[in-house]
Amino acid sequence: MIHASMSQIKLLSPYLTEGYTWLKGNLHTHTTFSDGTHTAEEVIANYEQCGYDFLGISDHDVFTAPHDYQHMTQMVLIPVVEVTSLGPHIQQIGVHQRVEPDTDRQAVVDRINSDGGFAVMNHPNWEWHFNHFPQEMMSDLQGAIGLEVYNGVIERLDGSALASDRWDRLLSVGRQLWGFANDDAHYPTDVGVAWNVVQSPARSADDIMSALRQGQFYASTGVMVKSVEIDGLCIRIETENAQRIRFLTRFGTIRSSTDGASAEWELPDNLTQLKNWRYVRIECYGEGGRMAWLQPIRIDVH
Ligand SMILES: [Zn+2]
Ligand SMILES: [Zn+2]
Repeated sequence: MIHASMSQIKLLSPYLTEGYTWLKGNLHTHTTFSDGTHTAEEVIANYEQCGYDFLGISDHDVFTAPHDYQHMTQMVLIPVVEVTSLGPHIQQIGVHQRVEPDTDRQAVVDRINSDGGFAVMNHPNWEWHFNHFPQEMMSDLQGAIGLEVYNGVIERLDGSALASDRWDRLLSVGRQLWGFANDDAHYPTDVGVAWNVVQSPARSADDIMSALRQGQFYASTGVMVKSVEIDGLCIRIETENAQRIRFLTRFGTIRSSTDGASAEWELPDNLTQLKNWRYVRIECYGEGGRMAWLQPIRIDVH
């Protein structure tokens, strides 16, 4: 067995250990400007009542500009469009100019990036065939920063709200992608199902978007995380309300499972194994099916 000296192995965690506050928000919501049943004003009031810190209104191929609504809310409004027509849906986050739909989804992602924003691949397992976003297309698309690991509205539609299967397949072939959780709310009853909690130094759209780009957040349907820390080959997580915590590696293999609100796992001191595993991902399970998905911690071997 080849031992892993610490100079050869580094665990690259996106998480901060100081200088931040956790901010909660949803980046995927519709209004009457597309197929939502409620106006932007009503949608904003609903999220504000639920205690959210930020919100992205993301109508289908329509830009609902934060500038027009920011005065009526304490939440930070994030500029978002859901690029919808002509292919699988892609979230354009950090919109300056709305990107036109194009059958060439690579061109859509490229334009989102050159506009200064970032792209997230939406609800991969939506529809009766569980294949709204074909795996091959997700794998070929370059420059998207993440995918929706959970999309709330799919709970009441065909397919699966959960897409951690897609995520593990992409991470396992070396793609660096962050997992987002969003409501995709169309009705008021869709509000508050799934959200993101960001480590942000300040309550501003730029700070929140920069933290999202760097993976300083987790996706949640109700489990709340306090901290994630790395010490050598040991990963520690503390939550408020998890009942079981799992550590997974390449292709979703569960390596460790602990009952309780906090857990730690020390990776084995075995270079061959660690090279093969590529990443560690943490999933937290709570009461009533609530969950949290932490971002992948990359196993860097050199
Ligand atoms: Zn969609
Ligand atoms: Zn949507």
